[in-house]
Amino acid sequence: MNYADLGLRVGIEIHQQLDTRHKLFCRCPTELRETEDASFEFFRYLRLKRSELGTEDRAAREEVMRSRKFIYKFYDTTCLVEADEEPPTEINREALLIGIQIAKMLNMELVDELHVMRKIVIDGSNTTGFQRTALLAFDGYLEVDGRKIGVATLCIEEEAAKKVEERGGEVVYSLDRLGIPLVEIGTGPDIDSPELAKKVAKKLGMILRSTGKVKRGLGTIRQDVNISIEHGARVEIKGVQDVDILDRIVEYEVIRQVNLLKIRDELRRRNAKVCEEIFDVKEVFANTRSKILKRAKALMAVKLEGFSGLVGMEIQPGRRLGTEFADIAKTFGLGGIFHTDELPAYGISQEEVEELRRAVSAKDGDAVIIASGDERRVRNALLRITERAKFCLVGVPEETRRANEDGTTSYLRPLPGAARMYPETDVPPVRIDEEMRSVDVPELIEDRAKRYVEQFGLAEDLAMIMADPRYSEIFEEFAESVGASIAARVLHIIPSQLRKDGYNVDGLGIEDFRLTLSLIRDGKIAKEGAEEVLKILTEEKLGEEEILSRLSPSQDLDDFIARLIEEKRDLIAERREHAFKPLMGLVMKEFRGKVDGKIIAEKLRNAIKKELEKS
Ligand SMILES: [Zn+2]
Repeated sequence: MNYADLGLRVGIEIHQQLDTRHKLFCRCPTELRETEDASFEFFRYLRLKRSELGTEDRAAREEVMRSRKFIYKFYDTTCLVEADEEPPTEINREALLIGIQIAKMLNMELVDELHVMRKIVIDGSNTTGFQRTALLAFDGYLEVDGRKIGVATLCIEEEAAKKVEERGGEVVYSLDRLGIPLVEIGTGPDIDSPELAKKVAKKLGMILRSTGKVKRGLGTIRQDVNISIEHGARVEIKGVQDVDILDRIVEYEVIRQVNLLKIRDELRRRNAKVCEEIFDVKEVFANTRSKILKRAKALMAVKLEGFSGLVGMEIQPGRRLGTEFADIAKTFGLGGIFHTDELPAYGISQEEVEELRRAVSAKDGDAVIIASGDERRVRNALLRITERAKFCLVGVPEETRRANEDGTTSYLRPLPGAARMYPETDVPPVRIDEEMRSVDVPELIEDRAKRYVEQFGLAEDLAMIMADPRYSEIFEEFAESVGASIAARVLHIIPSQLRKDGYNVDGLGIEDFRLTLSLIRDGKIAKEGAEEVLKILTEEKLGEEEILSRLSPSQDLDDFIARLIEEKRDLIAERREHAFKPLMGLVMKEFRGKVDGKIIAEKLRNAIKKELEKS
């Protein structure tokens, strides 16, 4: 792919949860919950309202056509603000200060006064039907590979509710996540290759983590990517959680748009046409062996003239034009569609396909799409699919898509209209005063890592980990006294290994690491003993004395050596002092990591000496 010739333009929007004590517009904790712990649930429907100018938002209209029921899980850590039964409080100042730090790191201009806006959101992920968002800074940049990438905007926003389940026409959301402060950073469309997109996202992630005030772990940072090529269209891909597949996402979207343009050219050459009529074809499948169609309440079809062979054409690895149509059906609560490019199959016979073609008067070059399920949903979905099929003759539709784990994407909804921001009159504006502006800028992780490489001789990748604010303070506290590589082992290498072995290391906190490292520093355990201590701490929070008594292997060690001398009396008699080496091996096998090797050697030597004196 020659991305320059294709006119590729990519912009990234990063959403990062902030690790504040409270939510953005209420005093609830920013704590995630298990859905089983919900106190109760309630539900809402969305209705469409015209704007002041009398227009309807296309994305909102489509959502209303899907007529989905939104169910919300409520907890004892959520309040009436999340439920939209009470006005929001003023904006969380802690979140604002973190936002200002980040803005300064990105060379941005701060606004004089912060105004909270309502951004229309129609997928039910906000109980209000909008997301509160406030522009904090604009017009900055970051440097990647010697190139300046513009950072257009930085907003402080509320996180949406988390979708926990979707079944038929119902979507279940969890309110614990709703209202957690987010920073949203949008770059300009300056990125012109998949690799650069990934690098920019990684650098932004590193800058955010450098504050030490962002949430960590799966789902706490998400990328949206805006991608377009010349003659294609702007497509927004939402919810990329794994930055390592960002380059593939861009690459696959370019492939998709190029293929849609090929399909357009072929359809025009064939004089293709989309028939508006929706046919009831239940009769055709009256005696079908397809379980899905047999069960269906309604079974309808549309005819795409001149589309034969193209519905089955692959446009992204493993995804065809037909998959795009199936995505639309799914957003209307159906299981999917069948199309004639893939039939006969799935229990549908050749005779049924021919009968279907007759029923809709399809010719050889035509494709037929069938959908089944609840009548109103089937009709609405097929209406939308014919609309989408018509657009195949125009080119690439502007739309919002969802990132899949393999780098492909699925259709979500049309791009929303531009008029989707309204002032949030319930929240007073905030002046960004001198005191707020003068907040400190933290050292970048990559700069601190460079220092660790020079100062302590750590390997670069390990230095990057130790330079993370999660570790840097405690690492520096112990790097001199126990040695940098031992500190890194205790903080990162051993816990990673324990995680692989199935230990729950997420519960290990800074205090646990400090305890382990100070035991080593004070000579109370051998450095090999760190693993044992951390293992105990994953299960139980113990103090120093309890840990030592738990380890207390010295009595065991004495007993073990005494028993061993007894067992190996012949060996000692024969080899005298030379029996030390094989015996030491046996003791170490049992006590390595629990007792310092030097202490073991000393005890064993004494025991052998005593044994020899006896004889
Ligand atoms: Zn609340």
